[in-house]
Amino acid sequence: MAKQAVYDVLIIGGGVSGTALLYQLARFTDLKRIALLEKYSDVATVNSHGRNNSQTLHCGDIETNYSLDKAREVQRTARMLVNFSLGLPDHDQWLFKHSKMVIGVGEQEGQFLRQRYETFSADFPAMRFILRDEIAGLEHHVIKGRKEAINAIAILNEYTTVNFADLSKAFVQQAQAVKGKQVELALNTYAGKISRAGKDFQVETNKGCYRARFVVVCAGGHSLLFAHQMGHGLNYSCLPMAGSFYYVPKLLQGKVYTVQNDKLPFAAIHGDPDILVEDKSRLGPTALMTPVLERYNIKTLPEFLRVLRLDLDVMRVMWDLFKVRDIRNYIFKNMLFEVPLVRRRLFLQDARKIIPDLQLKDLEFASRVGGVRPVMIDKQARKLHMGEAKIDTGEGIIFNMTPSPGATSCLGNAEGDLRIIADYLGCQIDEAAFAEILLGEDRQSLSNKNIA
Ligand SMILES: Cc1cc2nc3c(=O)[nH]c(=O)nc-3n(C[C@H](O)[C@H](O)[C@H](O)COP(=O)(O)OP(=O)(O)OC[C@H]3O[C@@H](n4cnc5c(N)ncnc54)[C@H](O)[C@@H]3O)c2cc1C
Repeated sequence: MAKQAVYDVLIIGGGVSGTALLYQLARFTDLKRIALLEKYSDVATVNSHGRNNSQTLHCGDIETNYSLDKAREVQRTARMLVNFSLGLPDHDQWLFKHSKMVIGVGEQEGQFLRQRYETFSADFPAMRFILRDEIAGLEHHVIKGRKEAINAIAILNEYTTVNFADLSKAFVQQAQAVKGKQVELALNTYAGKISRAGKDFQVETNKGCYRARFVVVCAGGHSLLFAHQMGHGLNYSCLPMAGSFYYVPKLLQGKVYTVQNDKLPFAAIHGDPDILVEDKSRLGPTALMTPVLERYNIKTLPEFLRVLRLDLDVMRVMWDLFKVRDIRNYIFKNMLFEVPLVRRRLFLQDARKIIPDLQLKDLEFASRVGGVRPVMIDKQARKLHMGEAKIDTGEGIIFNMTPSPGATSCLGNAEGDLRIIADYLGCQIDEAAFAEILLGEDRQSLSNKNIA
């Protein structure tokens, strides 16, 4: 039997996270053999597909659920995505500019936005604090028919919108364009059991076994399932939160966000242009607890049950959520948002916070649109772990779980993995190229920084 090839790094999952890592490993390290396994026939068909997410480049300026520290973190990683894209001539295929704003409705939200503007504008100089007339000039339908006081923080000329599936394809293309390396994309390749094989790992697939010195699992909620199978991350459980959307005629020119209710762990709905359905605006996402790891894929129900690991700690976390009246009402309301005969009427009430004169006849449930955010339940801390989660075992295998803003953070998350892999395998990172291409710094300023 021929000797099995050993890859330096094997990535499982070809969404925007896995493909971003493939690109960084190929472009910025001296590793020679890298492979990515994806079970479907193309990359980014699950949560990273534009149909299934809000297509937003989250920069931290209009997301009022982010603290200043979190906003700075996503701003850096959003910039990496823009820098990568602007280096390529065809970036206008996946990166778009729209206006964006977050509106403060009523006195309390208005006051909150004013304070937020004062705290954030030093880090986000493009922010503008605007009042009713200026909002009307930008987004007529946000003001039409509105009686309450309103103000907004707006950003007018920045990249706001990404087709993350086309971005993923660009990552693969750039990775495979690097000369002198084997960069393999194995589509229709379902990764099954992962086990140790001496100092390497062995991954069983429907197309035979792959061997690698390092494995990174970027398989959404499935990543935690792989971790559990290997005895890692047992203190985590996964709560899949589906998000649905509603279409309205193209009443919005750009992105319109609302102020977050800070009692709720999930982001408030917003209005967005849809780059895949250009004559419509999209409102959402809703937040529905759902017993599958992939939306509209009932085959992932057994996987959900395995990854949930339902026990007293999980039930306590759920109970703590249900105890809070705002969260309880929110959970029930979001369940009703899925019920055919009542959902449009109910959603209309929330949607009117963004477009006050919206009519029922203009609201359409976006059928089979929207993905699943794999939210982690930290059983030890007995709370939800919001945002991305990485289980770095220190043993040559990493598991990534990436709810929103995981698509925006793809290059930042990949950088984390890149550095862990470089330490573990002892490979070199071309820091100058990394800074120049992704951080937007030139070699001179990088070397000055190193000297300082
Ligand atoms: C409703 C909603 C709105 C969102 N909006 C935004 C937004 O506006 N901006 C933003 O930044 N983020 C947003 N997100 C989050 C974002 O979509 C995700 O963070 C991101 O797409 C995650 O990418 P990923 O590559 O980690 O996972 P995925 O895109 O889910 O990719 C995982 C891949 O792993 C593959 N896979 C799974 N199991 C196996 C296996 N056994 N073998 C081989 N392959 C396997 C799957 O087929 C899939 O291709 C949103 C998410 C939702 C649900």
